[in-house]
Amino acid sequence: MQFSSFNLSEPLLSALEKAGYHTPTPIQAQAIPTIMQKRDVLACAQTGTGKTASFALPLIELLLHQGTGRPAGPKALILAPTRELAIQIGENIGIYAALTRIKHAVVFGGVSINNQIGELRKRPEILVATPGRLLDLLNQGAVSLSAIGFLVLDEADRMLDMGFIKDIKKIISLVPDRRQTLLFSATMPKNIEDFAQAILTNPERIAV
Ligand code: AMP
Repeated sequence: MQFSSFNLSEPLLSALEKAGYHTPTPIQAQAIPTIMQKRDVLACAQTGTGKTASFALPLIELLLHQGTGRPAGPKALILAPTRELAIQIGENIGIYAALTRIKHAVVFGGVSINNQIGELRKRPEILVATPGRLLDLLNQGAVSLSAIGFLVLDEADRMLDMGFIKDIKKIISLVPDRRQTLLFSATMPKNIEDFAQAILTNPERIAV
């Protein structure tokens, strides 16, 4: 299988070629077509499987099809448990979207909030965030989630283990119900299954 079989736009395919990606990994082969069909996804996948590209590529592609309207805030929200993971996701998005108009911002705790407020003013379509800092920014009125049409929870098991469940529920309550939701988790214990059940609609299950 080749990336060109996914109906990805030329700027994305060029960026992948430049990054040296030749063959999709198993999670990418399963998740990319499913997400492009606008289905919800519940994926059991570890780091190192190529899971970031499996959601980031179709997400960028779908955003490219949405036109250039200027909504109240970002259209896609990716929640990650740690600043390291958030930064890494942001770096990957930067590589894949380099030749497109899609902009992103990354926000996480432990650093000054003012630079991040400045980044949000540039109206990124994609926001990568850790839950606590996102709530701080929401409380300050620095960002609105009312235009979010894609929600990704990455390393959901880790986010729940770290005690983010209340923060995440609060954040999800501020995201429109009419959305596509993708949940990635390295493990699938009962609390993740129950949580997934509550926030996903008829998800395609993917395990690699
Ligand atoms: P991840 O599981 O998303 O953390 O990705 C692990 C690493 O594999 C990252 O450094 C990616 O840039 C790289 N990667 C992801 N997909 C591919 C691919 N299809 N071909 C080559 N490298 C990839």
